[in-house]
Amino acid sequence: MARRLADGLWQFDLGLFRPLASNVFLVDGAEVSGGDDAVTLVDTGLPINLPTVRGELDDAGFVVADIDRVLLTHYDLDHVGGLARLAGLDADVYMGAADVDLVRGHWHPEWTHHKGAFHRLARMLYSMDDYDLHAVEDGDTIGGFTAFHTPGHNPGHTVYHHEGFDAAFLGDLVWEEDGELTIPIWLDSYDMAEIRESVRSFADRAPPFERGLMCHGNPVLEGADALMRALADRLVPA
Ligand SMILES: [Zn+2]
Repeated sequence: MARRLADGLWQFDLGLFRPLASNVFLVDGAEVSGGDDAVTLVDTGLPINLPTVRGELDDAGFVVADIDRVLLTHYDLDHVGGLARLAGLDADVYMGAADVDLVRGHWHPEWTHHKGAFHRLARMLYSMDDYDLHAVEDGDTIGGFTAFHTPGHNPGHTVYHHEGFDAAFLGDLVWEEDGELTIPIWLDSYDMAEIRESVRSFADRAPPFERGLMCHGNPVLEGADALMRALADRLVPA
């Protein structure tokens, strides 16, 4: 069931069950000042979701053709897979440059790396060749969003901050569990030390944000930047 978090900001509750449940966010830029009027989908869920992205769009009063832009936090099937279910999509699709290189085969992770090996198989099955991907770099602005390169979970993992919505779209930089922020698990990540560094650098560099909108767990709707700061201090003591 689509959940309205604020005017122009929706959470779609997709996926099958934890940990395969994932949040997707719909942002209607026309509802806030700053940026542009584009309708943006942040991540897309798995290739198969219950409920479906289309069902959730419908719930929120949108159709696929309304989507102007898709921001992907990283190349993992629970974030990019739902694109395949959005027939009729005519949107600009953005993803961190290193993950574009990964899926395009411009960079080859080691077969001996647990997640790298998985990605070498995943990109054969889910190539994203149908999409003209825009490669996002740290500091890029896309409408009202500012990109923060936050590698570790994936080499190109990217967080998108939106000042107008007082929100950070965190992808898998962090997960939420029982009201606390945690970092993803080793099995599902490239480099745990790099994740810790990314949490710290994002906490240091990001403008304030009340809303911390991660893909796994319950979005934090107040004081998310303070929780991020506290997590950074726990992970990388000064
Ligand atoms: Zn994920």
